[in-house]
Amino acid sequence: MSGRPARPDPDERKDRILHTRIPESLEDAIKVKAQRLRIPVSNLVRNVLEQTFQLVEDVVGDGLEIAHVARRGAERVREAATRPVAAGIYGWQELILDRDERCRDCGRELDRGEKSYRGVTDRPGTPVFLCGGCVPKSPRG
Ligand SMILES: [Zn+2]
Repeated sequence: MSGRPARPDPDERKDRILHTRIPESLEDAIKVKAQRLRIPVSNLVRNVLEQTFQLVEDVVGDGLEIAHVARRGAERVREAATRPVAAGIYGWQELILDRDERCRDCGRELDRGEKSYRGVTDRPGTPVFLCGGCVPKSPRG
């Protein structure tokens, strides 16, 4: 089996053409991606649509999981909204603590000798610390 969803209905084998308006930037992105993958643009679009629908079906199929994910997402939004504004923090510097501290975001106690992240700021004030689980991750992962 390939990675594509099964097509049990024989009528679905007859391909149809679907016209849609998309922004120029999206068209450019699709063309660049298709070129990189060395596949026709139409194949890329079809694959993305099929995979997206399969993903949605998988997620909706497990209502409990989606409710859990949604609740967790709402909690994160609420935490971010109610968190005291990080006063001018422009980075997080990894360090080994030489005293006990507390993670600003989750409240976990950070023990002396533990790896932690200190908010680097250009403003005076009490330093803030984060644990490894709360430090913002690099967009590259
Ligand atoms: Zn934390």
